[in-house]
Amino acid sequence: MEFMRPVWAEINLAALRRNYARVQSYTHAEMMPIVKANAYGHGALPVAGALRALGAKRFGVALLEEALEIKQAYPDLTLMVIGTTPEEASDVLVREDIIPGISRLSQAAALSAAAVRQERVARLHVKVDTGMGRIGFRHEDAASILEIAALPNLRIEGIYTHFAAADQQDLSFAHEQLDRFNRIYSRLRAQGLSIPLRHAANSAAILRLPEAHFELVRPGIVLYGLPPSRQVGPEAELEPVLSWKTKITHLKMIAQGETVSYGRTFCAAYPTRVATIPVGYADGLRRALSNRGEALIRGRRVPMIGRICMDQTLLDVTKLPAAEVGDVVTLIGADGSDRLEATEMAEVLKTINYEIVCGISGRVPRVYAEN
Ligand SMILES: *Cc1c(COP(=O)(O)O)cnc(C)c1O
Repeated sequence: MEFMRPVWAEINLAALRRNYARVQSYTHAEMMPIVKANAYGHGALPVAGALRALGAKRFGVALLEEALEIKQAYPDLTLMVIGTTPEEASDVLVREDIIPGISRLSQAAALSAAAVRQERVARLHVKVDTGMGRIGFRHEDAASILEIAALPNLRIEGIYTHFAAADQQDLSFAHEQLDRFNRIYSRLRAQGLSIPLRHAANSAAILRLPEAHFELVRPGIVLYGLPPSRQVGPEAELEPVLSWKTKITHLKMIAQGETVSYGRTFCAAYPTRVATIPVGYADGLRRALSNRGEALIRGRRVPMIGRICMDQTLLDVTKLPAAEVGDVVTLIGADGSDRLEATEMAEVLKTINYEIVCGISGRVPRVYAEN
C-alpha cells in the first residue's frame, strides 16, 4: 500500500471506548450511540463493532441504508432509524426488524400493513415534535398516536423528541420542550397507552439535562470526543477520536514577489519555502481555509497559503528549514505538544465541528488504531 497517496484519517478506537465510558458515567440510562453519516465520518462498522464490544446493543442512524449496512455486519444489534423512512420501505423494515421513527399516521399504516402481510409484529418509536420543527407529530397531537396504537401488528416500543437548543447557554427552551414531551407522554398514559422507552437527550442534554435522560439517551458527537458547542463539553474531558494526516510531497523555495496557486492570492513577502501536500477540497479540506488554515509539521504550526485546490494544498514552511519530502503533516490531531482540533478548524470556517468530521470525504482512507 506504500505507493498509495499519503492522505489518511486515523481513528483511535481506544479513545472512542474511553469516551463511551465517560459519557455513560453521566447517566443511568441505556446509551443508543448515534452512528449516522458513517459514524460522523469515523466509519460506521468499526465504531459500531467497538461499542458493541462494550455492551452497546442499540444504535441510531439517519437512513435505512445505514441501518441495513450495520445490521448485515452485526445481526444481533438493534438498529433504529431516527430520521424518516419512506412508506415504500415498510416491508424491508419489518423483514429486517429495523425500528423506524414514525412521524405520520400514513407511515404507521404502511408499516402495519407490511407487518400483517408478513405475519409479524413491527416495533416502532413515535417521534414527537416539541420544538425542533423538523419531523414528528406535533406535541398536542396525542390523538394520532392513539390511532397508531389501534393498528394491527404494531408495537409502540418508544417515544422520542429532539432538542433544538440543548447546547446553548440558555436552557429555557430545552425545558419548554421537555415539558411538552412529558405532557404528551402523560396524556397517552392517561388514555391507557404506556410506552416503555422514552428518549430525548442528544450529547448536550446528556451532559447538562439529567431530567431528560429517561430510559434511553442518544449520544453522537461526544462519543467522537468533540464538544457539542462552545458552551458545552470541556468538563467531560473527552478525547478526539479522529486525526487527519498527510505527508509533504514536494518542497521548493520561491522568491519574494512570486505567487502560488489559482488566482495568485498568495504573493511571497519574503523568500518563502513552500511545501505541497496531496490533499484538497475533494477530500473535504474546505476551500474556505485558503490563506487561513493551519497544519502541524514537526510539532510546529504552519499556514496554508494560496487557494486550496481539488487535490493539493500549499504550506509556508519557511520557519522549518529541516522539513523534508515525506514529513508527516497533521491537519487535525496532535503533533508534539501542539494539537489542531476539528473545533478550531470549524471556528475558522464559521461552522461546527460536526460538519468538519462528516465532511472528510470517502476518498480519504480510514485507518484504525488502538492507542
Ligand atoms: C444526530 C442526532 C443525535 C445526536 O446528536 P449529538 O449532538 O451528536 O449528540 C441525537 N438525536 C437525533 C434525533 C439526531 O438527529
